[in-house]
Amino acid sequence: MTLYNLYNYTLDELIDFMQQIKAERYRAKQIFGWLYDKGITSIDEMKNLPKDLIKKLKERFLISIPEVKKETKSKIDGTTKYLLRLKDDALIECVLLFDNERITLCVSTQVGCGCGCRFCSTALLGFKRNLETGEIISQVMLARKKTNNKLTNIVFMGMGEPLLNWKNLNKAILVISDKNGLNFSQTRMTISTIGIVPVIKQIADSDLKVNLAISLITVKDELRSELMPFNKKYSLKEIIKAAEYYNKKTKKQITFEYVLFKNINDNEQDAMDLIEKLKDVDYKINLIPYNSSLNTGFSKSENEKMLNFQKILISHGIKAFIRKEKGADIKAACGQLAANIN
Ligand code: SF4
Repeated sequence: MTLYNLYNYTLDELIDFMQQIKAERYRAKQIFGWLYDKGITSIDEMKNLPKDLIKKLKERFLISIPEVKKETKSKIDGTTKYLLRLKDDALIECVLLFDNERITLCVSTQVGCGCGCRFCSTALLGFKRNLETGEIISQVMLARKKTNNKLTNIVFMGMGEPLLNWKNLNKAILVISDKNGLNFSQTRMTISTIGIVPVIKQIADSDLKVNLAISLITVKDELRSELMPFNKKYSLKEIIKAAEYYNKKTKKQITFEYVLFKNINDNEQDAMDLIEKLKDVDYKINLIPYNSSLNTGFSKSENEKMLNFQKILISHGIKAFIRKEKGADIKAACGQLAANIN
């Protein structure tokens, strides 16, 4: 009989299960306490549960946590990358980034990715499978342990397109933010997407308080389709409309991410086009220097051009930041995750 990982369930789902087996509802909270407060690794360790409940749990569930295969630390900035092996031997990576008091975990949501962005190492792996809810949560548990509970931010921006695994990610967010779970505020979580329009609208209509970032790259539809083939499914026009809808429904600002490539999307006209296209959206923009780790034919925009791009945006009243490059020496920077065991 198939056994299911207890880390895959929200508190409400466990309460439902307790009702199905005629156990008290509060037992679900006790189980959450063992999982997320005590961090136990076996159902037998749940000492305050009656023996018959332990038996019923073991007939249905197990506790499965990914194994840390490798830990690599940047000599430049302390960025630390973890290579994790999942129960089916699939490999994923997550990354801890340090910036003074701010400690951010970059979380993976899929094994590989099927979106095919031409500038991204993960794309070369292709899509293998979605991560289960527990496999997403486990990355956060690992980071909390490694930082002595000092983790301040979570970005779902590692391997995979988070909104193509929305069912499992949504549940993971509920458990991570549940006060009986990891009790980590949703306002400190950011989901980064290339623009899966129906799910952006779903998030806008939900009660979630997470932040949303959209990887824009360019506001030229044709060029975007060339760099990010998924743009053919959801066009820029639709994505911008979804961003406006998100603003209206949540009253929250969107972050657009714009990776700067030399001579592709980094000139003054590109900045002016961006301002014009996004004129009805409430947003800030993160300009990301490209990490030229792949033989993709792209290279990093020159510093002077990046600064000029930022200056144009700021002069039009837009909050524009240039992201600090982190973890490039250990292939942990944006677009570099490839879950390579070597
Ligand atoms: S950039 Fe994101 S969506 Fe695009 S291929 Fe890489 S992981 Fe997938």
